[in-house]
Amino acid sequence: MYDVVIIGGGVAGLSAAIYAARAGKKTLVLEGMMCGGQIVNSPKVSNYPGIKEISGFELATSLYEQAQACGAGIDYQKVVSVEDRGDTKLVITDSDTIECKNVIIATGAKHRELGLDNENELVGKGISYCATCDGAFYKDKTVAVIGGGNTALMDALYLSKLCSKVYLIHRREEFRGKDGILNELCNTENVEILRNCIVKEAVADDTVKAIIVENVITHDTREYEVSGIFVAVGQMPDTKLFEGLVDMDEYGYIKADESLKTNVPGIYAAGDCRTKEVRQLATAAADGAIAGSKI
Ligand SMILES: Cc1cc2nc3c(=O)[nH]c(=O)nc-3n(C[C@H](O)[C@H](O)[C@H](O)COP(=O)(O)OP(=O)(O)OC[C@H]3O[C@@H](n4cnc5c(N)ncnc54)[C@H](O)[C@@H]3O)c2cc1C
Repeated sequence: MYDVVIIGGGVAGLSAAIYAARAGKKTLVLEGMMCGGQIVNSPKVSNYPGIKEISGFELATSLYEQAQACGAGIDYQKVVSVEDRGDTKLVITDSDTIECKNVIIATGAKHRELGLDNENELVGKGISYCATCDGAFYKDKTVAVIGGGNTALMDALYLSKLCSKVYLIHRREEFRGKDGILNELCNTENVEILRNCIVKEAVADDTVKAIIVENVITHDTREYEVSGIFVAVGQMPDTKLFEGLVDMDEYGYIKADESLKTNVPGIYAAGDCRTKEVRQLATAAADGAIAGSKI
């Protein structure tokens, strides 16, 4: 019987493990893919307090080693459901059923997809969700960035310094991202902004060759030759499997305030998967510290 099972080995989950294990609690982290979570692929982190600059992979490795050194068990299993039995919980994975007294949900968030028919098969073959991770592969090539928020604007600016041409495509007239960055993009020679436009299709053989873009007002379509499509249309929480178990908001974020408690006693939510204003490494670590100390 574990005192706590932590679902997700990202920054929130591993931070929770450090605090729970150091407090002498029998702790198990279950990770479905790769410890470290979203930050693993980021080449540079420069806003984590106390560390001037570090790669996401190094930060994740260091957290993983620290959690293990504190005595937390870490296992690679994908959790498929959780059952609340009052004082105990059953965590069911793709290969086991584990009983525990408390559960910390730290499953984070993942990128939203565009919804193109061939989107999944073209990931890594022209479609990317991370400009800082993959931008260098498109040096001196033409790419498209899709989205209207700060991430899309920042991605377009970043790529304009690497690529020969960047199309920034947004489905609305107005951008949600900061005016300052938008102005900079408007004055950048190799950036062309397509407003009120959506990508209908990715034209590809083995890799992306072009996109078909539709103007949502005139319904005219046009083909643009691009080698890369950078999708920056937001994120969604990885919480579907907890539907019906804990309360969530309309977007699927688990309702938990600074106490990290959900509506179910003994089940906590930490990191990007919970309702909060700032989703960052520092806030994920803070959530983990609080949740890990409470159980
Ligand atoms: C490209 C990129 C760059 C970023 N750069 C920065 C930055 O410079 N500074 C900053 O502060 N923030 C940055 N962020 C945001 C930061 O990475 C996140 O806020 C933080 O990683 C959230 O941590 P988390 O532990 O809550 O979730 P995640 O990192 O999403 O981790 C969740 C983990 O849970 C696992 N999981 C999900 N479902 C299951 C399941 N059913 N069973 C088992 N395991 C499961 C996932 O595999 C994952 O490992 C960046 C994000 C991205 C995508």
